[in-house]
Amino acid sequence: MNVKFYGTRGSTPVCEPGFQQFGGNTSCVLIDGPDRVGILDAGTGIRQLGKEMLASTEERFRRPVFMLFSHFHWDHIQGFPFFAPAYDPAREFVITAMGIDRFHHSLRSVFSHQMEEVYFPVSLDQMGAKFTFKESSGDSLGEDDVPEVHTPQPPAPGHEARVIGVLHNHPGGAYSYRIKGQNGKIVTYCTDIEYANGVIDERIVALARDADLLIHDAQYTPDELKTHRGWGHSSWEQACEVAERANVKLLALTHHDPNHDDEMLRGMEKACQQRFKDSVFARDQMVVDI
Ligand SMILES: [Zn+2]
Ligand SMILES: [Zn+2]
Repeated sequence: MNVKFYGTRGSTPVCEPGFQQFGGNTSCVLIDGPDRVGILDAGTGIRQLGKEMLASTEERFRRPVFMLFSHFHWDHIQGFPFFAPAYDPAREFVITAMGIDRFHHSLRSVFSHQMEEVYFPVSLDQMGAKFTFKESSGDSLGEDDVPEVHTPQPPAPGHEARVIGVLHNHPGGAYSYRIKGQNGKIVTYCTDIEYANGVIDERIVALARDADLLIHDAQYTPDELKTHRGWGHSSWEQACEVAERANVKLLALTHHDPNHDDEMLRGMEKACQQRFKDSVFARDQMVVDI
């Protein structure tokens, strides 16, 4: 099973020189299993993923694709209108998220609103592909709940992957997910998370327990974190603490700050690797084989 990063930038895309090594596309990750594929978030990186999907002759890219969203801030949905396979009537997408009821919106309306005429020339209904929206209530995810008891709907008919979600601290809320791939390998996706008072959330440690890959927010340096309380993100140091305590095999840091250029990110990566050896700062187009 491969995990491929298509967007590793947080908050807003960047395209300046000096940002090309890590890349400037916002959040999007492909979970590429032997028979099926899944997509985490639809930031601007999903545009390139769409081009590669259309060019691929692999059967798994033509089967229903499971799309899972951490939350709906711009940097996690803004690539969706430019996702070319969504315009192909022969394709099907199962769009899933937890906790959408908190906003008094349907999951479909999150996507149809961003494609209203005032914002975009093509409506969701005109795109062409078949969309199935699966909402899972976040009401049952209390502070004291154990992550393992929460099992949202199976991702898609016949899909063997299982997903567990946890609502975590972020403005408006966001979800971390533990995803069991078709080969039994575990990927934990945890972005746009701020640990309240700097204290690591035990539920996230549980969610990442023995994961083969932990993808974790690392927007800030430990120093920057001190001056960004309430901004909804974490530092690479906190990501390392989660990885250590959860015994993860590989830690991939993501959601890079749009003001952090390649040189700065290389420095942060070096410091991070000194603390947790098996770690890497994710780059757009990076592939991890698990
Ligand atoms: Zn974000
Ligand atoms: Zn966010």
